[in-house]
Amino acid sequence: MSNQNSDLLESYNTLVDTLNSYAKAYYVDDEPLVPDAEYDRLYNELLVLEQAHPEIVREDSPSKRIGATALTAFESAPHRVPLMSMGDIFNDSELIDFNTRLVDLLGVDKIEYCAEPKLDGLAVSLIYKHGVLVRGATRGDGYVGEDITENVKTIKAIPLKLTGDNIPSYLDVRGEVIMTRDGFEKWNENARLNGGKVFANPRNAAAGSLRQLDPKVTAKRPLSFYAYYVGECEGYTLPDDQYHCLLELKKFSIPVNPNIRCVMGLNGLQEFYKDILSRRGELNYDIDGVVLKVNSLKSQSSLGFTAKVPRWAIAYKFPPEEMMTKLLDVEFQVGRTGAITPVAKLDPVYVGGATVQSATLHNADEIERLGIKIGDTVIVRRAGDVIPQVSGVVVSKRDGTQKDIVFPTHCPVCGSDIEKVEGEAVSRCSGGLVCQAQLKQSIIHFVSRDAMDLEGFGDRIVEELVNSGKIKSVADLYSLSVSDLASTVLDKGSEERKTRLLGEVTAKKLIASIDKSRVVPLNRFIYALGIREVGASTARTLAMNFDSIGDLIKADYQTLLSLPDVGPVVARHICDFFLEKHNLMVIDRLVKHDDGFLFSAGIELTSIKQSSNRASAPLLGQTFVITGTLSSMDRNEAKNKLLALGAKVSSSVSKKTTALICGEAPGSKYTKALELSVRVILEDEFLKMLETL
Ligand code: NAD
Repeated sequence: MSNQNSDLLESYNTLVDTLNSYAKAYYVDDEPLVPDAEYDRLYNELLVLEQAHPEIVREDSPSKRIGATALTAFESAPHRVPLMSMGDIFNDSELIDFNTRLVDLLGVDKIEYCAEPKLDGLAVSLIYKHGVLVRGATRGDGYVGEDITENVKTIKAIPLKLTGDNIPSYLDVRGEVIMTRDGFEKWNENARLNGGKVFANPRNAAAGSLRQLDPKVTAKRPLSFYAYYVGECEGYTLPDDQYHCLLELKKFSIPVNPNIRCVMGLNGLQEFYKDILSRRGELNYDIDGVVLKVNSLKSQSSLGFTAKVPRWAIAYKFPPEEMMTKLLDVEFQVGRTGAITPVAKLDPVYVGGATVQSATLHNADEIERLGIKIGDTVIVRRAGDVIPQVSGVVVSKRDGTQKDIVFPTHCPVCGSDIEKVEGEAVSRCSGGLVCQAQLKQSIIHFVSRDAMDLEGFGDRIVEELVNSGKIKSVADLYSLSVSDLASTVLDKGSEERKTRLLGEVTAKKLIASIDKSRVVPLNRFIYALGIREVGASTARTLAMNFDSIGDLIKADYQTLLSLPDVGPVVARHICDFFLEKHNLMVIDRLVKHDDGFLFSAGIELTSIKQSSNRASAPLLGQTFVITGTLSSMDRNEAKNKLLALGAKVSSSVSKKTTALICGEAPGSKYTKALELSVRVILEDEFLKMLETL
């Protein structure tokens, strides 16, 4: 054998072995070692090699197999009609080839397609006999899957019994079990806080949850299901095209994805791809592309299958939402409450439609869970409007140069001890307001819009005022003079550029906004104090129940606990906050004193307690969510108006949401509201509602 041939064989063998090990981790262990994009890249390399050198193709090449052999832990579940895999394409010219090939094979001018989102979950087959669910099975190797009937029965979207008058005697429905994005986020957040299994992405979460030996575990996971194909149907005549077959399934209460469309020819396919791609972020579940199927079942059977995939369908993949990159360093940031957050500094990577160069690593437990080291190749996930996450480490790419991440024992900003509170995942700087980082963050919070609303005080100005020692607490804001502000350095300058100061005009504007904040509703002041876990809504509850800040300071734990919205943790944080002498001193320096205390900023707090009755708080007990852009006001203004009417404003839609206020270009909250049948109020109606109330 020539050197060239043996090199070729060696790289081919390495490729097959690597892909097989990745496929086992993905299909069998539900713990992928690399992102799909990396698997697809290597798989395409393999196809090119195999096409050029068919003589070297191994029997165990992934190009010859569907999925993976079923786990022996479950009973095996043979499929009467195999569950096939699907060909992939990645660009428009491959789409044109696909359509041209089928037009030629069918001898027609134009083809009607059924175009569907490609759900990123786990394929299952559900068998109904006389309308009763008798078996649920995974795809396995396409011929034999795993019997997961008991687990499938715990998924609420899957009917245990079909509805309707005329029910098939035998029905094999294929579809995808998925985990919703918000279900996945909530699950992981909870697992990170309370110790539990954290999943890398919703696909793994769905697959791992479904292949649990104990159905009680599956039952706790937020899984859902959409059907996309009928494998077999007896005792009932289904329509003769894919699209109407799916519609028919809905009549039996089998869920079908609402974004499935019937489209004509290449143009129709291209438009569908673009449309779904543009709405990908709004959907509450992951999709990794679109599946394009010849609609007519007669044409499907005349086109038939290759050994592994149908000729009449193709998966047109979207740009990936998971990519590999390098972890360059870890920075430790200090938040307002002293929480130390490790932040991954990444080699910039384009993923999920944006360039990502940093991502939170949450806390020390997360670093340990990921087993991540500086210099590692990591997997970055960015899906929808969720912030980028490091979801895994590619251990196989380690070369011995990686270094452990050392969690600091002292605050990187003030040097105080870092404490880890028993039972909490976060570590905190013990420096309190001595720590400049905490001081800056607490002032940034104090001046923010929902708090004291000191217009013009951006992060940079606050940072400079703290760095120059002009303010040491929020109370100092109220003793600033025009000259203090005017001389604040905005840009240090260099040899070429002059130092830039804030200047008198801006300084006067800032003083005016400070003066404006000298009369403020009690709820905004409570929120501005930055008590842990007390957001705008809890601050409002407190202000509705206490006449003055003095009354709130005096309130004991039990009284606080008796208020709506205040649980044991929040009540404890409020008590702890007012037990701190320096907090009381700051409040003393801020609020107006009847005895004319000279050193006070003289802030007058207006009570909102009287508006807690039904007449002035007509939306009491109702929860609203806002999405999209409103043309008459910004979202913050809308939120404040709702709060003023006694409503609660939440950031996510749930069954408890009274209504969704919907502006232009709404996000995923809109889809969620439709899914949960939550009332949607458009801007016009919202304005009328405000006027009436
Ligand atoms: P596939 O995922 O490319 O396509 C077939 C599957 O699509 C079906 O089995 C079904 O589950 C799903 N699907 C979703 N919506 C559908 C719809 N509307 N109609 C029909 N099917 C729909 O093929 P595959 O063989 O299951 O897997 C290959 C893919 O798995 C690769 O693209 C790769 O990215 C990924 N993979 C990744 C790794 C890894 O290590 N990250 C390893 C192996 C495979």
